[in-house]
Amino acid sequence: MKSIWMFKLSLLLFGLFFCETIYSQDNTGSLMPVRGFCIGAPRPAKLEPFLAFIEKELVPRQVNALILRVDYNYQYESHPELRDTVCLSKEDVKKIVDVCRKGNIKIIPQINLLGHQSWAGKVNNLLKVYPQFDETPWIVMPQNYVWPNADSLYCKSYCPLHPEVHKVIFSLIDELCDVFETDTFHAGMDEVFYIGADKCPRCGGKNKAVLFAGEVTTLRNHLSEKGRSLWIWGDRLIDGKTTSIGIWEASDNGTFPAIDLIPKDVVICDWHYERAEQTPVYFAMKGLKVITCTWKKPVVATLQFEDMVKFKARSSWDMGQRFLGMMQTVWSDPGTFIDGFYANTPDEMGGINTQWATFKTLFNLIYLEGVIKK
Ligand SMILES: [Zn+2]
Repeated sequence: MKSIWMFKLSLLLFGLFFCETIYSQDNTGSLMPVRGFCIGAPRPAKLEPFLAFIEKELVPRQVNALILRVDYNYQYESHPELRDTVCLSKEDVKKIVDVCRKGNIKIIPQINLLGHQSWAGKVNNLLKVYPQFDETPWIVMPQNYVWPNADSLYCKSYCPLHPEVHKVIFSLIDELCDVFETDTFHAGMDEVFYIGADKCPRCGGKNKAVLFAGEVTTLRNHLSEKGRSLWIWGDRLIDGKTTSIGIWEASDNGTFPAIDLIPKDVVICDWHYERAEQTPVYFAMKGLKVITCTWKKPVVATLQFEDMVKFKARSSWDMGQRFLGMMQTVWSDPGTFIDGFYANTPDEMGGINTQWATFKTLFNLIYLEGVIKK
């Protein structure tokens, strides 16, 4: 009998230890180890309200990951030719670093890599300065951009097999991680439509999934040399046709088998804005860590939040560890977001389908969930 009680006591202690291990992943007791907020880095003139927003709104809501889309909004010393005309100085960045450090927020800077090298009719800095990196140099940027168009031009890509491209990119990544004092970098890599173009002398005829996975692996390996991690958006790894998720939130251009080819320590930011797609389970079953990303529909964010909690609670230990949490993504400039947030500006229909209403909804849910679990 004594041995049975000892056994039960051992089980109880093991159970307590087990729960403690789960909940000790952060200091909120939350099932959301990553509580992310993704936004464009402010221009210098808007830095002060941005710092105040971090301090007054992100920190109290226990946001612990700030994914900051920097791109060329920084005075790079390694490649000054790639700087935006008006961009953040090192001193500006250090102000962001300080306020985030005090608030226990990890900064994850982002440069859009591979795809998104142009927007509408405008080429972005990398291909403007180094046109030789263009995957499709024969496609001329239109005067008046429309979608759809005869070239299927959404955004330009760089050629991942160009022998000079990584030398430039690695310098930018290293400099950004150094100045933001971080061990994590977000490479974007979403909505890559141009990849493995037939007319590219290096990529033509090559398997697009292999090309995509090769670029992910190249970036990951570079970061790994300095003990750093890579995050990317997840859409190129989902089969758009079979799932009917489409060509934006999923891939219709042959890249999706890359999910089996990329290193398992790459963190997937799985964005879905119209429906609470069940894709986090897919990523987790492939051995990848995943964060569900939402945008401007509070109803969708609520379902995604409930799913994330459910996935984690009902999965095996190993699977459960891969559901990292949630991220609010903001696709306006930070000033517009902050203004809308404080004014509670409604959407065009007078409703609440806005980025700021979704942000408030999501972090209320996360906060309440954390309180309940305490
Ligand atoms: Zn190429």
